[in-house]
Amino acid sequence: MPNTQRVEESNNVIKYYDCHCHVDLLKESVLQECRSLYINIVAVSTDIKSYNRISELRAEGLVLAQQFLGYHPDSITPDNLPYVKRVLDLVNENKVEGLGEIGLDLSLDFSQYKDLQEKIFSQFLEIAETKNLPVNIHSRKAQPHVLEILKNYRINPFLHWFCGSKKQLQEAIDLGCYIGFTPACLKSNRYDKLIKITPLEFILTESDAPVYGMSPKDMPMLIERIASLKGIPPREVADTVKTSYLKWIGEI
Ligand SMILES: [Zn+2]
Repeated sequence: MPNTQRVEESNNVIKYYDCHCHVDLLKESVLQECRSLYINIVAVSTDIKSYNRISELRAEGLVLAQQFLGYHPDSITPDNLPYVKRVLDLVNENKVEGLGEIGLDLSLDFSQYKDLQEKIFSQFLEIAETKNLPVNIHSRKAQPHVLEILKNYRINPFLHWFCGSKKQLQEAIDLGCYIGFTPACLKSNRYDKLIKITPLEFILTESDAPVYGMSPKDMPMLIERIASLKGIPPREVADTVKTSYLKWIGEI
């Protein structure tokens, strides 16, 4: 019964999730490989141009788990407000699968527009609440500010590439945030403690590719790393990430 056997084998394969990936900046061959490696990708966008490029790739046959629309906080300036408005209008008028990349960036280069960033972030979150959409959040050097704003909304937030303190991690979990870890933890020990203390059911895996040369193809190694830090089998980590992903996007 070779056919039955094949089905069982493929059902038995570990499925991976890259919950934050800039697919418009990756080689198509990498994305095709991901499909055969059972790596599911959530594509985030940073503006309308990148969102449209991802839509094109999808129309050409790229298989994505989800495609989010957002406007990156690093690009928020008074001059760019018309572009932000177009994204907000698009999100309001159309059916999108999720919002992101959105958030706050209070690192030195971008903190001068903090108030504007906070205003726009809040506008996105309001839409997410009204339309019941998952959000993919950038929070560089802005964990306390992001968490303070999130308290005002009943939404499903994912804090991508979490770099905060243990205290902030606990606050984020108390608010029901999913916590993102990237392949950066394969090269540095600085995330070990955070991974160990984050409850498995709050962890989402992501690449933020192509940042720092990371790739969605790193997901199996990332799962193994998390599994070894937690002292549990990789399959348990992967299966839990899958369940968390489905909860995050509101499918279960
Ligand atoms: Zn990103």
